[in-house]
Amino acid sequence: MDRRQFVQSAAATAVTAAMPSWQAGAAPLKTKKMIGIQVGAVSFVDEGVEKVLDEFEDQASVNTLFIATFTYGRGIAGRQVPGQPLPDHGKQAYDTDTFYGGSYTKVDPKYFSNTPFKSFRAPDFGDYDVLEAVLPSARKRGLKTICWFEDVFRNDRPNIQELQEKELSGKNASTLCFNNPGYRNWLLGMVENWSRSYDVDGIMWGSERQGAFSNMLGASHGGAAGDRVTCFCGFCVAKAKGRGINPERARQGFLELNKFVQAGQRKERPVDGYYVTLWRIMLRYPELLAWEMLWTDSLRETYAAIYQKVKEIKPSLQVGWHIWHNNSFNPIYRAEQDLAVLAPYSDFLKIVIYNNCGGERMARYVENLSQSIYGDLAGQESLEFHYRVLNYQERSLAEIPFTGLSADYVYRETKRARDGLNGAKTLLWPGIDIDIPTAENSSKCTPEGVREAVLAAFRGGCDGVLLSRKYSEMKLANLRSVGPAVKQLDLG
Ligand SMILES: [Zn+2]
Repeated sequence: MDRRQFVQSAAATAVTAAMPSWQAGAAPLKTKKMIGIQVGAVSFVDEGVEKVLDEFEDQASVNTLFIATFTYGRGIAGRQVPGQPLPDHGKQAYDTDTFYGGSYTKVDPKYFSNTPFKSFRAPDFGDYDVLEAVLPSARKRGLKTICWFEDVFRNDRPNIQELQEKELSGKNASTLCFNNPGYRNWLLGMVENWSRSYDVDGIMWGSERQGAFSNMLGASHGGAAGDRVTCFCGFCVAKAKGRGINPERARQGFLELNKFVQAGQRKERPVDGYYVTLWRIMLRYPELLAWEMLWTDSLRETYAAIYQKVKEIKPSLQVGWHIWHNNSFNPIYRAEQDLAVLAPYSDFLKIVIYNNCGGERMARYVENLSQSIYGDLAGQESLEFHYRVLNYQERSLAEIPFTGLSADYVYRETKRARDGLNGAKTLLWPGIDIDIPTAENSSKCTPEGVREAVLAAFRGGCDGVLLSRKYSEMKLANLRSVGPAVKQLDLG
């Protein structure tokens, strides 16, 4: 930092310190770094496009909108999750009866002729098309717009069953199979629809799922062990055979693994302990890991196919991926997120680095694993093992649900991702936690905490930040701490 920068920075800090954060952020600041925010249609409908965009630009220095254009999930669309306190803006009521999900933009059937899944227009706001509603004003203001959609579906849509994964038992899962041409074609149709029909700047897609091995172990902060063990559909079986994997051996291996997991849930410790016994099963059935990697490679191929499709249509569109928070907890999942491999088909990566809810999620992950692979370790020991192998320095298991993870976690994860990209031109945009719901007594975001997370991400070498998960759950004071942080950084 030279003297001029120092004086500017010191002046900015002094101003920030002297004024309330909402005043300090009062003038829009255009930075070349990406300052993005995830926002669903409901916020524009409830609060009005101009008011929402004023708030984003004036208070949070936002220059890029990540509009939830398709999802059946509440994580990125709809108002506040029922049961959580409503934020201090938007309609002061839950949308329990009106939220349904689907595409919040018009659907052109010509892009969906080669998939059985054709009926997915969100009914929430009638004919409302969120891109038509927002793009003219966003353009006028010089804001970029990214279509943001995720791999979350409903069971009750016509023909969706034809695209669903098959669980180990043979019954349909609620998730869709990347190797099913009907789903692959739907994904490509969706991105073609947006790329050709709207003047947008890019597309981001996210899939918060993992393969059968990790799912069987319950190795995530979400569902329980034995949940969602997929996929054993005809397309996956054929693909496995093509890779020299014996599907019958894989099935047997997963049945053995299931016995191990079931015994753990009954707290019946295997004679040789959890860790050794798991290795015994893995050595007997290497197909377990082969099946896990089959799933992961299929996800990567899906990324590559979406990337290629969009680039064929409009090379200037930026295409990238939301990388699930499990990347911060499960070392197996982290091993699968090989950033150097993803880089050639990723213009950007949103690596989820949500620090406040991260404490509660890390604790839940440790708990989930306490009856399988790490069943021989006490919870605190398991946590310390994970801190060591993931390279974190955070608080104890008893504390983290109530403190969250620190800004140092944001710094370390950003720096690791930067280093993992190994000089690739892929832009790194960490996802920053602003009021992602936590349990009633767990830690909550604060303006200072958000500010520190943003500063830590830039200190770690990011190219921008993505304020997450959705505006409709963010408190204004927390969002408004971003503007002063961006000013303080003097990003140019
Ligand atoms: Zn399948």
